[in-house]
Amino acid sequence: MSFGGVHALSGVSLAIEPGRIYGLIGPNGAGKSTAINAITGTITPSAGRILWHGRDVSRWPQHRRARAGLARTFQNLALFHKLSVRENVTCGAIHAHDDAGLRAAVDTALDDFGLAEVADEPVNVLSLGTRKRVEMARATVAKPKLLLLDEPAAGLTGSEITEFSERMREFRNRGGAVLLVEHDMSLVMSLCEHLYVLDFGKLIAAGTPIEVRANPAVQAAYFGA
Ligand code: ADP
Ligand code: MG
Repeated sequence: MSFGGVHALSGVSLAIEPGRIYGLIGPNGAGKSTAINAITGTITPSAGRILWHGRDVSRWPQHRRARAGLARTFQNLALFHKLSVRENVTCGAIHAHDDAGLRAAVDTALDDFGLAEVADEPVNVLSLGTRKRVEMARATVAKPKLLLLDEPAAGLTGSEITEFSERMREFRNRGGAVLLVEHDMSLVMSLCEHLYVLDFGKLIAAGTPIEVRANPAVQAAYFGA
């Protein structure tokens, strides 16, 4: 992916299997958000391919990829601030259900993320942690196969992060895959089974958290060693 002269991503290849939690890490500007944007169709890469279950979806619009099971959250939340929590979560599922199924799926997602009590509140009166839970509920309500999360824990309290980890493990245990972009290294190391490391738009390492932490290139680029 190039923006003018800037190669935001160059020659990066990632593979994602069901039922696993992946971390995508790297310094600011490394290309992490760009990778999520390219995979989900928010942007169209200048070269390369996105394969989903063997099909080339590189030219598919974002909504079609969402319908095929790719869901995301945004680094800067992208909610409808004047709409209620329930309305925002419903937006994540209108493509996936009939009316009765939609209502039930939304209720389940509201319960799962502890949002039932604020379901009728407009999003703009809620705390950051609660708004992040609304984004998570909206992203998961249609039961996606792959969930791409752009810094979901930034600004959360310790207990909110613990809750978040639990939800992600449940999602994984039901067969979902997660690609987590996150700066909180203790969260990444405890939650992720496989890491990809970007630096200046290039993949500099991949492997288990232990392998990646021991990698000299990663230590130089990321841990500042
Ligand atoms: P990260 O999420 O790892 O912090 P980004 O993917 O946001 O990094 O950005 C990677 C690089 O691409 C940066 O140099 C950034 O300035 C550039 N970039 C990202 N999006 C755009 C855009 N829409 N237009 C121009 N440059 C961009
Ligand atoms: Mg980013």
